[in-house]
Order: sequence, then structure tokens, then C-alpha cells
Amino acid sequence: MEEKKKTAKEKKTATEKLSVKNTSARKTSAKRPTKKENQRQEARKQLALEIIERLRKEYPDAECSLDYNEAWKLLVSVRLAAQCTDARVNVVVQDLYAKYPTVEALANATVEEIEAIVKPCGLGHSKARDIQACMKILHEQYSGQVPDDFDALLALPGVGRKSANLIVGDVFGKPAIVTDTHCIRLVNRMGLVDGIKEPGKVERELWKIIPAEEGNDFCHRLVYHGREVCTARTKPYCDRCCLQDICPKAGV
Ligand code: SF4
Repeated sequence: MEEKKKTAKEKKTATEKLSVKNTSARKTSAKRPTKKENQRQEARKQLALEIIERLRKEYPDAECSLDYNEAWKLLVSVRLAAQCTDARVNVVVQDLYAKYPTVEALANATVEEIEAIVKPCGLGHSKARDIQACMKILHEQYSGQVPDDFDALLALPGVGRKSANLIVGDVFGKPAIVTDTHCIRLVNRMGLVDGIKEPGKVERELWKIIPAEEGNDFCHRLVYHGREVCTARTKPYCDRCCLQDICPKAGV
């Protein structure tokens, strides 16, 4: 009887193990892309390459519209640019650097002193706090230099993935994809991603279809195109868009 019970228990365990195995096998096979998904992804890659080429011709000199002549200044500007126009940031930083011309000077300023200058950019207190804390770390841990490592940048106060990508791409010439508001709106309309709004997810999807060396320039060109043609506030000007014959105009 004891032997029988043991056998039944063993059988149950074996069944459970088999069930777990089957479930995980199902999960594994569910994750594997289907032929149709592979075809869609390939079509997206081809579309992305064509869009990259056309935007390159349309905006050959596209670059970051934040003014900077030193890496740490781009870090400051990109923090100030949250919910503010680049044009306004470019004006405000002139006063900031006139008073605090170095990393050390900004690191030693008080949050209130920085806030008094950066207030016109909005969110003055939190931006001033992040800038001061960030400059303090650069001064104390990096000898006033900006690290070229993505994760080290991400660890700095006020620096998110968008900012870290902008720095590694623009300052250090490394592969980068900057998913700002223009990028997210445009790649959805263009059908390069499918209804994805979360910046991190958009970035992940774009890495799969954009050649790494093209990402940084491509994102700068999206900003130009988003401001001039594929605008957010009005209906986009599809009739004069260089992509109008290949763009699915999703959601337009
Ligand atoms: S065709 Fe229209 S929706 Fe597509 S990128 Fe051009 S302006 Fe935007």
C-alpha cells in the first residue's frame, strides 16, 4: 500500500514536471516570432532604410538644436529642455554660464542661485537641484569631465535614457537613439512602430530596425521633420512631405 502511494505520488510529480515542461515549451514557442512577424519586421527595416535616405537628403545638416561648446553644457541644457523649447534654453544658458562658467562654479552655486536664472525654463527648482547635484558629481568624481559610458551617465541626477543617448551620440559619436516627443509621434505615423508611446519601448523597437550608426542623425532629422512638416499641433503637411508615397500615415 505504502509502495502504491509512493508510486502515485511519483506519478503526480512526474505529471506536474511534464506539465511545467510543456507550459514552458509553449511559452518559449509563443515568444518565437512567426513567419508573418518576421516578414513584417523585415518590411519595417526596409521602410526605415528608405526613410533614413530620404530624410538625409531633405535635412543633410540636421544636428542638435541645443547650443553647447563643452559636453557638460549639453548635460545642463538637456535637463533644462524638459517641457521647454530649445530656443528658450539657448537664451537662458547664456546668463547661467556668464555667472557660472565652469563645472566647479556651478557645483558650488546654491540651488536657489541656479533656480533664479533657470526659472524661465519652467520646473525651476527641480531642474536647478538636478543641475547642481550633477555638476557636483562631475566635479568630485570625474574631474569635471562628462563620462562617455551610457550607464554612468544614466546614474547622474536628472539624466534619463533620452539625455544619456543624446550625450553618447552627439558628444562621443556612439550609436544612440533619442526618443523625444517628435521621434515617438513620427515613428508611429510612419509605421516603424505600432502604437507604442512609451519612450523606452519605442527605443527598443527602433534598435531592431535602424542601423546602429544611423540612429543619432536619424533622430535629429526626425526633430526637423516634426517641426516643419509632420507637426503635432496642426494636421501634418502630408501633401508636401518627402515620405508621402511610402508613409502609412497611421493615426493621421
Ligand atoms: S506623410 Fe504625413 S504622416 Fe507621414 S511623415 Fe509625412 S507628414 Fe508625417
